[in-house]
Amino acid sequence: MKKKKAYYVSDNEEYGIFVVAESVKHAKRLGWGNECLCNDEYTDLTAKWNKEAKVDDLEYGVVDDMKEGLRRGVFGFIDEGEDCDQCGVESFLTNVEGKCLCSDCEEKKENKK
Ligand SMILES: [Zn+2]
Repeated sequence: MKKKKAYYVSDNEEYGIFVVAESVKHAKRLGWGNECLCNDEYTDLTAKWNKEAKVDDLEYGVVDDMKEGLRRGVFGFIDEGEDCDQCGVESFLTNVEGKCLCSDCEEKKENKK
């Protein structure tokens, strides 16, 4: 069996989805038609392999949980629609040591160090 890889599939620079697949081709096929992508042309899709992200425990396909993608390092941030792991407020989230935190909680964490 081939190793599962994390791909960031996108149709532009600004937005993309997290897909678990075994190759670029596979990732694009799985991501194609996803409502998050407003692509008209299949050929416009790009799939970028994220070598750092470990996804062996996930199923092949699009991972709808954005926070899962953030925790695993597929996304650098989430700008809307998800809640902070710490305070539960919907906000701009970044990955802080495996947690999805808003800037307030991240600051608090930093101050504790
Ligand atoms: Zn927070």
